[in-house]
Amino acid sequence: MIFIQRSDEPEVLTTAGQTEQKALCAQFEQGNHDFEFKGKIYGHNSVKVALRTMQHDKCCFCEAKITHISYGDVEHYRPKGGHKQTESDQLTQPGYYWLAYTWSNLLFCCTLCNQHYKKNLFPLKNPVNRARSHHDDMAMEEPLLINPSVLNPRDYIGFRDEIPYPIDDQIYGKTTIAVLGLDREALNETRRSKLSIIKSLLDVITLAGGQPGNYELQQLVEQTKQNLKQQTALTAEFSAMVNAFIFLAIGDVEL
Ligand SMILES: [Zn+2]
Repeated sequence: MIFIQRSDEPEVLTTAGQTEQKALCAQFEQGNHDFEFKGKIYGHNSVKVALRTMQHDKCCFCEAKITHISYGDVEHYRPKGGHKQTESDQLTQPGYYWLAYTWSNLLFCCTLCNQHYKKNLFPLKNPVNRARSHHDDMAMEEPLLINPSVLNPRDYIGFRDEIPYPIDDQIYGKTTIAVLGLDREALNETRRSKLSIIKSLLDVITLAGGQPGNYELQQLVEQTKQNLKQQTALTAEFSAMVNAFIFLAIGDVEL
């Protein structure tokens, strides 16, 4: 997980989205909580493109690249239809219906993170403070899931090699890892493969860098540094782990 710098709001949300939001709030006032959500608005192509671009085509949670074959989902950080504090709870409805078309509530994530892990889970530090309608103050809530477009996940989730862990054992990192399955074996395995490449690149730099007289070797060191630098970029898959590992290995040394 990395920090996501939110881009400008797509127009469809400020037009059709706002109209629908008002309609949903009016429906709530009438006591009708049987909401229908229009995927054509929050899942509009312009919204998907904006989200994918600002997230560098990566899942907002696990940082896997979203490819043509692994269709991603527009994710509602605060679930629109209903919510659960824990997996074993009954679904509480309505959910955060008034945020169904709200730009700051939308992210893009891989199907696995969305449909197998997060689903309708939205745990709060104190569930009594949960906003239950558009009249309630969401500022009272303390979500236990890190919102990567609000908080920097780097401050909450560290890596021991490919395995994520909650920094200082705090509840935000711990809950985020558990709820989203960020330490699931399939992900650990993919990150492990990536890390073995990173380790090899670092070995080349360390070993070859010790022979300054050899021109070919120095060329290789420069190329390897460039390669390594690319793996730390925001656009690179699993860059949070790569950056954490490199920082531990060589500190703040400029590549
Ligand atoms: Zn994911």
